[in-house]
Amino acid sequence: MTEAVAKGETTLLRLACDKFVAAYGRNPVAAAGAPGRVNLIGEHVDYCEGYVLPVALPFLTVVVGAYNNTDECKILSILANGQEATATFPATTASVLKPGAPAWANYVKGVVANFPEKVRGFDVVIVSDVPMGSGVSSSASLEVAFFTFLEALTGTRVEPVKKAELCQKAEHEFPGMPCGIMDQFIVTMGKKDHALLIDCRSLESTHIPMDSNEAVILVVNSNVKHQLTGSEYPQRRAQCQEAAMKLKLPSLRSAHVEDLKELKWLNCDELVCKRATHVVEEIARTVEVAELLPQKAFTEVGQRFYQSHESLSKLMEVSCPELDQLVSIMKSSPGVYGARMTGGGFGGCAIALVKKEYVEDVKKKVQSQYNGKPVFFVCQPSDGARILKLN
Ligand code: ADP
Ligand code: MG
Repeated sequence: MTEAVAKGETTLLRLACDKFVAAYGRNPVAAAGAPGRVNLIGEHVDYCEGYVLPVALPFLTVVVGAYNNTDECKILSILANGQEATATFPATTASVLKPGAPAWANYVKGVVANFPEKVRGFDVVIVSDVPMGSGVSSSASLEVAFFTFLEALTGTRVEPVKKAELCQKAEHEFPGMPCGIMDQFIVTMGKKDHALLIDCRSLESTHIPMDSNEAVILVVNSNVKHQLTGSEYPQRRAQCQEAAMKLKLPSLRSAHVEDLKELKWLNCDELVCKRATHVVEEIARTVEVAELLPQKAFTEVGQRFYQSHESLSKLMEVSCPELDQLVSIMKSSPGVYGARMTGGGFGGCAIALVKKEYVEDVKKKVQSQYNGKPVFFVCQPSDGARILKLN
């Protein structure tokens, strides 16, 4: 059985510092880390200004570095499989940055370009154990870790909401991904033993206590990532915008159940109606779960997980056979209150709310029945981005 085990801040930091010394022949002077995340509920609603309820994970991206007295930024990223990726680009004191090859470095360049002050040349090492492309947001983890590193390097501090917004802008402009605000927000503001209810319209957020004594969130990585056309996410976003426009609303956040009927009267495209129905109902479910979770109303939370999955599968059409199979296996397992896909979809992870003493049984059942190769971990709600101390 494959378990994903977080290496921990100390180990990752030591690894990053050792690599820095080996690559650049001196010690780093600034360091920062930012976690991955898993979303409990509120999927495909952040870009509609809805509510989302994510949790920061113990998996971490660590960035260490120092100025190099040149006009160039040099980045070395140590990937989970041990491979190394490198990139070089101009310092913002010398040039205006533009997106380009290698593709992965755009996540970093976007952050440097959007940092509120110009930054001189630096050398950097990135070490991360956040699974990439698995729906736990390695991209936001990288962006926010890098931004926090720049805060440590320059001494300029940016308040958390602004920082999340700048990192989101970076992902829009450089990798060209029109993501919502959820990932950068939770990665910046996560708190140990808490989920975060984020109002993606007002950007107000509330930490929701998560007691893991009786029930836990089991995360199962399907280990598939379907390479579709790449336009699926922007398409969903555009369809939701179209529904809001038809209703003359600023976003679907302002829509009510009755508005969904109006969409039909307006002869709105059937797909657009389906997407809007998902968004309106998912926002309501998310607010309910945020209330139910601290009351330990696990059965009621679980029901909403199942409803959310069904809706993502049938209305939003962002699930895939592997995620549907994982949810169906867990649904038939004793001790499971509810299960759903999490993240953008088309692969990545499924989660289940499980009675603690049943976790091993559920894992065994998934292991024996799932057609793919699952990777498991139990979600431990963790802290968000932070500057790390160097010895
Ligand atoms: P997710 O955010 O769900 O993990 P994305 O497709 O949004 O998936 O982002 C994954 C991409 O982010 C990778 O393909 C890579 O380009 C970039 N990335 C994330 N973490 C790192 C890292 N530590 N080093 C280099 N690139 C990274
Ligand atoms: Mg991402």
